Amino acid sequence: MYGAIFGDIVGSSYEFKEREHTKLFRLFTEESHFTDDTVMTLAVAKSLIEVGPMASEEEIKSKLIFNFRGFAKQFPNAGYGRMFWDWVNGDSDEGYESYGNGSAMRVSSVGWLYDNLDRTRAVARWSAEVTHNHPEGVKGAEAVATVIFLARNGWNAATIKFFVEREFGYDLSHSIQEMAQDYKGDATCQNTVPQAIRAFLEAEDYEDAIRGAVSLGGDSDTLACMAGAMAEARFGIPEEFREEVNDYLAENMVKLLSTIDNIKKDLEDHRNIELMIHNLHEEQKKYQSQGADGSEASKEMEQAIGLALRHVAHAIHVRMNAGCMFFAPVELPEEELASLQDKFALGSVIPLTSNLHPGRRSIASPDGKRWLAAFTSIDEGNKRKPDCYYVGEPIRFTLEVSMQLPDCAGIVVNAWGESFFMPKEIIANLLGKEGPEVNHDQDKR
Ligand SMILES: [Mg+2]
Repeated sequence: MYGAIFGDIVGSSYEFKEREHTKLFRLFTEESHFTDDTVMTLAVAKSLIEVGPMASEEEIKSKLIFNFRGFAKQFPNAGYGRMFWDWVNGDSDEGYESYGNGSAMRVSSVGWLYDNLDRTRAVARWSAEVTHNHPEGVKGAEAVATVIFLARNGWNAATIKFFVEREFGYDLSHSIQEMAQDYKGDATCQNTVPQAIRAFLEAEDYEDAIRGAVSLGGDSDTLACMAGAMAEARFGIPEEFREEVNDYLAENMVKLLSTIDNIKKDLEDHRNIELMIHNLHEEQKKYQSQGADGSEASKEMEQAIGLALRHVAHAIHVRMNAGCMFFAPVELPEEELASLQDKFALGSVIPLTSNLHPGRRSIASPDGKRWLAAFTSIDEGNKRKPDCYYVGEPIRFTLEVSMQLPDCAGIVVNAWGESFFMPKEIIANLLGKEGPEVNHDQDKR
């Protein structure tokens, strides 16, 4: 969110101004200000927080309509498009078939507030449809939210590029520099969203994404707003930039931003599998160094380990039900591997296509049992030198696959760092099944 608003403020000095295509410019000028992009970004975020994570399409849409009108009237001089302003002051709750980039510039909170991609995409579509119900308007919002979701879940630039081109049909093959040659900037989704995504893809850090977006010219506040929103999910945003943003905003806006930050943090903390595994390891270390002597104190430590173990299982369960992902390292046949290698570096997530036939990697424990490997993030997977690709898949799917494999003891989560060996009994429990299920047909093959 800060990433989007910082971009809007920086871009505001350069909106539709004739200038050289360069990344060298002052971030802030006397003309810098927040625009409609910021106001509407906050309106979407506030609406989604108010209705809660499980709200229906109808609840979300009517809250959005209410808050779009409320925020626009509270900040009437933020630079709205004419059609939007007419809609704000009209009494129709119908969209007006717009493909303006208003739908995509305001969508960033959607990329942060949900735990799975399907829900993220659906809410992004709904957030667009209340006003921008032209297919391009809807697509722009969905694409930006998707990029934010993927980036914050550890997908790298090459994989995001591939996925977005396939899902949304945008051409992302030209660099910002190439595009700048004949770029005729306007305020449509189709002429700004792919450009902003490209600025995000080729950026070296957060600031570079903003500079790349503004260097194109045209609707620079919105280009930088979208690129900044996506770049924040990939690189984070420097603390001093956050402070700059706060200086430009009204007090109630800063308050709303801090509420959103707290919600994001909360989502992470309570469901963090890595943190729960870390706690388990701490309890086990304590036990190994001073327990195991049958004393009262040692029994207490055993209980603490049991509790920590249940917390790990609970965290996995919560994340599974929220549709979160595991990253599974895969083996590919020689020729499929060769076809991937010029596109993706080893250690990245690959999008699954019908011509790929990945096998799964398993890891042996000292007792000779084999465990299916899964990681909570790509960073965990690449704690050892990357020598394979990953697929990102719903946790439930990984769990189900492990139950189908006859010679597999379970799943090892985060094998290279603080790891957790999850035997089939626990997996069955998490899946709500009685006991391990073995697919005998597969056995015979
Ligand atoms: Mg604007």
